[in-house]
Amino acid sequence: MRILVCISNVPDTTSKITFSNDNTVFNSNGIQYIINPYDEIALSKAVELSEGGKGTVTVINVGDSSTEPTIRKALAIGADDAVRVNAQPRDAWFVANQIANYAKGENFDLILTGRESIDYNGAQVAALLGELLSLPSVSIAKKLDIQGTEATIDREIEGGKEVLTVSLPVVVGTAEGVAEPKIPNMRGIMGARTKPLQVIEPIEVKELSSISRYESPAPRSAVKLVDDVDQLVQLLHSEAKVI
Ligand SMILES: Cc1cc2nc3c(=O)[nH]c(=O)nc-3n(C[C@H](O)[C@H](O)[C@H](O)COP(=O)(O)OP(=O)(O)OC[C@H]3O[C@@H](n4cnc5c(N)ncnc54)[C@H](O)[C@@H]3O)c2cc1C
Repeated sequence: MRILVCISNVPDTTSKITFSNDNTVFNSNGIQYIINPYDEIALSKAVELSEGGKGTVTVINVGDSSTEPTIRKALAIGADDAVRVNAQPRDAWFVANQIANYAKGENFDLILTGRESIDYNGAQVAALLGELLSLPSVSIAKKLDIQGTEATIDREIEGGKEVLTVSLPVVVGTAEGVAEPKIPNMRGIMGARTKPLQVIEPIEVKELSSISRYESPAPRSAVKLVDDVDQLVQLLHSEAKVI
């Protein structure tokens, strides 16, 4: 089985996010980048499925050369090889087209993405890939089993779960529960240095959206400790205005 895992390079969850140029540009100075956590789950599942010679795992990232440490980490976790589409990601349409362009000649049985990236949170790439490659796509997978040429997927739905079966090839957007994230060991880290990382040039694609400006959430106000109920009721009425 040939598996493609799409890897997004995102700011570490502890990063302090700031903007420059009148809130139009994300300030990447001093930001530590990581594999998008949902993509780490997808990759861990792919490695599990391919273990024991049952398949191969290729990771793909659309990004400039600064994303290579993240790609090498994916190789250390267990991917066999990697592809970087040499372009600054512009929007989900641009990213999905670049990945689809690579994937269409490669006959992957399974294409995994995360359910969403934790920076732009578009939750679009998996569905766009399905459409661009004329493949079924399933989002928010909480469990994924493969038997022969069929995938059984548990999906999160409002107030419950949906279990569905789908024939391979398929695109799946994975969520927590699909696999335990794997931590690279020393052998993996050493081996990752020499695993193949192919750089390909992007195709011409016009992005469909552009960001006008960013806005940070309002800073949280200080906590006020209240030790009697009457005062609490008074504050909920006059300050919080919730009663
Ligand atoms: C309007 C707009 C402008 C943007 N401008 C910039 C910019 O100037 N510079 C910049 O660096 N980014 C920019 N981005 C972000 C970048 O384009 C995102 O990578 C892209 O939009 C996909 O993010 P998403 O949140 O839509 O992905 P989602 O659909 O939430 O991601 C789902 C999954 O798709 C896969 N995926 C997402 N992105 C990639 C990727 N790059 N490579 C491989 N797999 C991926 C991952 O598996 C991920 O878990 C912009 C995004 C938008 C919407």
